[in-house]
Amino acid sequence: MSSLPWKIIFEILALPPDTAAYLDWTTGILRINANYEQWFDLISRTDGGILVPTTLSSQELDLLETVTHESTHLLQIVTTGFLYSVAVELYAGIGTYVESFGSSFGEDDVLAILEHGIPAALMEEIRSILLRLDVCGPDNVTARSIVESSAFMAQKRTHHLGLSRQKYAQMLETQCPGPEYRRAYDVAVQYLGDDAFDLFPLLASLSLCTRRPEQIFSSFCEQISKENGPSGAYISVPGQSEVSIDLGGFLRVLNAISAELIGSAAQAAANLPEHPFYTDIVNQINLLNRDGAISLDRYITAPHEIQERLFEECLRPMIFNRSGEHIRPIVIPGGLWPTLSKEAQAEKVRGLIVIAAIYSKTLAKVS
Ligand SMILES: [Zn+2]
Repeated sequence: MSSLPWKIIFEILALPPDTAAYLDWTTGILRINANYEQWFDLISRTDGGILVPTTLSSQELDLLETVTHESTHLLQIVTTGFLYSVAVELYAGIGTYVESFGSSFGEDDVLAILEHGIPAALMEEIRSILLRLDVCGPDNVTARSIVESSAFMAQKRTHHLGLSRQKYAQMLETQCPGPEYRRAYDVAVQYLGDDAFDLFPLLASLSLCTRRPEQIFSSFCEQISKENGPSGAYISVPGQSEVSIDLGGFLRVLNAISAELIGSAAQAAANLPEHPFYTDIVNQINLLNRDGAISLDRYITAPHEIQERLFEECLRPMIFNRSGEHIRPIVIPGGLWPTLSKEAQAEKVRGLIVIAAIYSKTLAKVS
């Protein structure tokens, strides 16, 4: 890759003042609206990844919660087949287009793409992939509402230790950023009552392991409800000692949707092109799960309990705000791509950043 218009690329990727952090789904690049020193000062005050919210300013808590929220999206992408497919397909279109320029791809090409956009057919492809997130299923549930409601709950339960169901209901009334951040949870409450608080992460993850999460989610809730003809055989939910699932209802749902199942991200990956970032992370966390270093079962049922540990493993490139005139810190964690040289890692991240900027411009035109 020859010289590139980095100033323009980073201007495109700069976050608006009211956005604390943002995960670019296409590339996995996490943009953080703080400078490197501010972020590491905050992290250095953690105790095993846990911060006591009362010791933080409201901006610090917002930054921390938003980074957790956005990192939850990364975990959703690398654990569920639906979201992994969306992310890989979004990348594949733009990635293949950029690769078609060959090794001479440089400043003029990037400027032309940023100014004129990607070809119309590719734009249409991106639009149709994104539309899958907003198809309305029963009870007005969309895949996006499952993804966002789940990430919002994870951010709150991670950083407000011992958060109760009642307190979370209050937070939804006063702090919820938009309807999609609670809609799927509200539907779960409608079917499952108080149990929704502990069952929602599992139901959200399982429905995101199907082709059409929005069509599946409500029937999952309905069938799994204990009131709905318990068979007498229950499975308990790890980490959620007071909640159990009617096994008969659960199996009926699985049977009914078997044609819709994609499975986990690792299972989906077998039939998809490789992604330069996510595929490595999928493989990495599956190895850790196999070796017992982390538990994906536990993550799926109670993500807030082990998110911090998984974030350490799901090492993601992070872009911080400029703290001096010419410094744009990009952190590539040491454990990511351990077999690559530093220069090869940097080259890979530079490629992802270019794609993130092109995608950002595309997204603005699509929506
Ligand atoms: Zn989100």
